[in-house]
Amino acid sequence: KFALRTFAQANLDTEEPKLKAINSEKREFKAETKKLLDIVAKSIYTDKEVFLRELMSNCSDALEKQRYSELTGKSEMRDVPLEISIFTNERERTVTILDHGIGMTKEEIIDNLGTIAKSGSQQFVSALEDDTSTGESIIGQFGVGFYSSFIVADSVEVISKSDSGEACRWISDGTGDYEISEIEGSDIERGTRITLYLRPECKNFSRPTEVKNILKKHSLFISYPIKLNGEVL
Ligand code: ADP
Ligand code: MG
Repeated sequence: KFALRTFAQANLDTEEPKLKAINSEKREFKAETKKLLDIVAKSIYTDKEVFLRELMSNCSDALEKQRYSELTGKSEMRDVPLEISIFTNERERTVTILDHGIGMTKEEIIDNLGTIAKSGSQQFVSALEDDTSTGESIIGQFGVGFYSSFIVADSVEVISKSDSGEACRWISDGTGDYEISEIEGSDIERGTRITLYLRPECKNFSRPTEVKNILKKHSLFISYPIKLNGEVL
């Protein structure tokens, strides 16, 4: 269902596929996650650009965890810069966000991205159950975190590597299930790379000028260097 593409391919179209998925498994989202995703995907929520703020803040959290882990001697300092890189590809209609933060093991990916024990998402679903308002009007009230990717993307790929595990890949179209695999040939040393395959009507988010403007509006609080297509912002 999902084609494997390398980072270079998704963003620069320069290389043959090198990634190899091993032990791919399909897993269903938990019922409440499905409910949330369904609303997010159907939403005509106007403030679509918030997805970037959510992803950037996750990168920032992951970098902060890595920094702390290095400071406390829990993980060795390596030659991987604590920064966030964003790549846009208008032709492929993708936007990719990469951080060299703490990364996730396979189990962590499953726990963190498959369930909604986290963030405002849980409150969001509870609020929906109270059903005093529609999902649409409360989506902005609670940040739906990582899942806000599906406001703008019809497919999301996450590749992550933590110091304590092999690189893994999570991919989903945000409907019933996701696919998780271990991968070989990833170009990530440590950290997380999230590629959003944008919906046709959201192709503006693959334009560097648009991304730059959104970052200026929403991501000034990030205390790590941010690069857009290789250029420091
Ligand atoms: P929250 O940030 O409020 O916990 P999110 O939905 O934004 O909720 O993210 C869910 C979880 O997924 C995070 O708590 C984190 O464990 C994991 N995660 C998301 N993005 C990243 C990332 N870039 N690097 C490492 N872990 C991440
Ligand atoms: Mg978050």
